[in-house]
Amino acid sequence: MHRNDVGLWTFESPRDLRGVAHAFAPADAWGGFDARRREDRARLRDGIAPTARLVETHQTHSAHVALVTADTTSASLADERHGGIDALVTATPGVLLHAIAADCPLVFFADRDANAVALAHSGWRGTVGDVVGATIARLVDELGARRERLVAGIAPAAGGCCYEIGPEVVARFRALPIDATAALRPSARADHALLDLEHVLVRLLEREGIGRDRVEVAGQCTICGGERFHSHRRAQGRAGRMSGVITGAWS
Ligand SMILES: [Zn+2]
Repeated sequence: MHRNDVGLWTFESPRDLRGVAHAFAPADAWGGFDARRREDRARLRDGIAPTARLVETHQTHSAHVALVTADTTSASLADERHGGIDALVTATPGVLLHAIAADCPLVFFADRDANAVALAHSGWRGTVGDVVGATIARLVDELGARRERLVAGIAPAAGGCCYEIGPEVVARFRALPIDATAALRPSARADHALLDLEHVLVRLLEREGIGRDRVEVAGQCTICGGERFHSHRRAQGRAGRMSGVITGAWS
């Protein structure tokens, strides 16, 4: 990923993600960023797509996906599904999809030919619930995206070096329709494991038809990566939030 002069990160290798305005805002963007602050979200919008309308949801680690059109607002999404929405898809210029995280991977999607983009919040619950598969299905079925064209980027998140999970969660990953063996390493605690969530997401994307050559992985761990990241684990639940944003308009 590329880091610009105010500390925003963008994906570089997937061709279509280079061409669409998007960013990951870590804790040290502008010298201090927390997505819980309204003024920080506004600064992010102004820095990426000043004329766009920022659309965000109440995230609950679900696999629910919402389509954002010209009429969609954050408030209308809250009315649409009180149980939470963890991924947004759009082909409408002038909207800026927004999601927050503090250890959970944010997964960015784009298909330039369909003018379609998406942003998914995929922590362990969302990943085993297949929010990624649900997001791709909406992109393909409703916005004309094609699996063989879609590109994806996975933002900094809890890494396989640090992200310890308990036996119930290990069992959920072993039950996935991919081989998760390589993503689970023994940890110091009995029956626990260190989870490489990026590895799992890459396998799930491959299974959905998005090959490894069309996926950029940040490969940065938010738990041991220091103060430039907000980490729910490291701060024991008192962390700020980082942001992902992507627009439906190409340059
Ligand atoms: Zn780490």
